Amino acid sequence: MKELMKSACSECGGQVKRKAISQEFEKEGVKVKLSGFKAWVCTQCGEIYFEPGGAAHVAHAVNCLFALAFAERQHKGTVSAHLG
Ligand SMILES: [Zn+2]
Repeated sequence: MKELMKSACSECGGQVKRKAISQEFEKEGVKVKLSGFKAWVCTQCGEIYFEPGGAAHVAHAVNCLFALAFAERQHKGTVSAHLG
């Protein structure tokens, strides 16, 4: 996950478009899923970018989900949050 600096993808130079995406994150065998959040996605290579500061918000939300997952010992399941 990177922050968007320009209007083009820094990996391949492709066009990036803002859309709602879903991402799964895994830590120590526990999975959490965040869906419906807005990010910029490269139409060519699929690299995901956030607006400045956006990545920190997502990281915070993901850390909260992990805290919940570990607290509830939901190691077998997936904790998910949906935005929007
Ligand atoms: Zn790209």
